[in-house]
Amino acid sequence: MKFSYVNPTLIQFGQQQIAALSDLIAKDQKVLVVYGGGSIKKNGVYDQVAAALEGFDWVEFSGVGANPTIEVLDQAVKICKEQDIDFVLGVGGGSVIDGVKYIAASAVYDGEGWDIPTGKHTITSALPIGAVLTLPATGSESNQNSVVSKEATKQKLPFASPEVLPKFAIMDPDVMKTLPQRQLVNGLVDAWVHTCEQYLTFPEGALVQEGYAEALLKTLKTLGDNFENQDDAWRANLMWAANQALNGLIGSGVSQDWATHMIGHELTAAYGVDHARSLAIVQPSLLRNQFAVKKAKLEQMGKNVFGLEQTDDLAEQTIQAIEAFYHSLEVATQLTEHGDDKAAAIDNIIGKLEAHGMVALGENQAITLKESREILEHAVA
Ligand code: NAP
Ligand code: FE
Repeated sequence: MKFSYVNPTLIQFGQQQIAALSDLIAKDQKVLVVYGGGSIKKNGVYDQVAAALEGFDWVEFSGVGANPTIEVLDQAVKICKEQDIDFVLGVGGGSVIDGVKYIAASAVYDGEGWDIPTGKHTITSALPIGAVLTLPATGSESNQNSVVSKEATKQKLPFASPEVLPKFAIMDPDVMKTLPQRQLVNGLVDAWVHTCEQYLTFPEGALVQEGYAEALLKTLKTLGDNFENQDDAWRANLMWAANQALNGLIGSGVSQDWATHMIGHELTAAYGVDHARSLAIVQPSLLRNQFAVKKAKLEQMGKNVFGLEQTDDLAEQTIQAIEAFYHSLEVATQLTEHGDDKAAAIDNIIGKLEAHGMVALGENQAITLKESREILEHAVA
């Protein structure tokens, strides 16, 4: 095992923690507060942020939608450049925080921001950013990753850089009280799949990473099974589990898959499927397609997460248990948003994967376009 791991994001966790903002940003910084479509105006989060920023020089930018587009984000980049912004604060879910990462990196780059996700520009610096999380799901509040879309071409691409790691993340579980059930389910499923992407590969004897991944999966399963009994502890556990699932720790020094995410991104870009729901559509089919290499870990997951007995078909039973978990949350495992032409939908997605260079996915780069097509054959209804 060989890895280098650092996660310097300060986590300020718990109720009423938004007030801590005033101590987390230097008073001489000019701050751009970025948020989404207005949920924070309705649930009091905006007022708490404004109260904490009293005395600061700050301006705001709203309207960052789900699956943030560069068409919108570039307007905020312009504000940063024109108004000499020093610090960018994202207040929202993964979309806002991912968007803030793009804004912060583009603000110090003279070219087109889209050069960042396409790889034409490598990030070497960015404005400092902070996050007030309102939707636990992505882990974006303390990781290096971002996913942004280009509306004009219906593309959705990821990028990553240590330069865009938030300086701090404020995580007050009370903000989750206004989340629609659909978004809570999405958060739970996204965190679940993040853990699987770093765990369901092949056994490498990394007992700490595997054991921690199993603790997270068991936690998420328990929360899903108790979805109707949400209380303070339920919310705090989901917020913390989703963060820990993708803060770099469980993936350190072990193989990582991420093919479910890369194929899922295309479903979202092409058909508007919620991010988490795109993953639930792709993952079971992908696990069956890659069954031979994933069998040992699927069996381990079956025993240690679902409490299943060792049998000859334990690995397949584990996939069925994952599907049953999604179905219990009313999350579909087949794509239906594509209309009635299945063959055209599969060709469309394969064409996009090819255009984005997603031609050797997974922990062994074994998922070529041929395997992706096989996976989609079972995932598209
Ligand atoms: P999201 O797209 O940030 O938010 C979804 C919706 O929830 C928005 O409409 C938002 O409304 C609403 N919302 C947020 N907080 C709320 C609250 N407290 N009360 C009521 N409504 C609230 O959802 P997400 O799942 O966190 O982020 C998904 C994005 O993250 C996708 O683009 C995905 O590809 C990406 N992602 C990133 C990573 C990463 O590591 N960076 C990992 C996986 C996925 P408002 O706009 O009105 O606030
Ligand atoms: Fe995700």
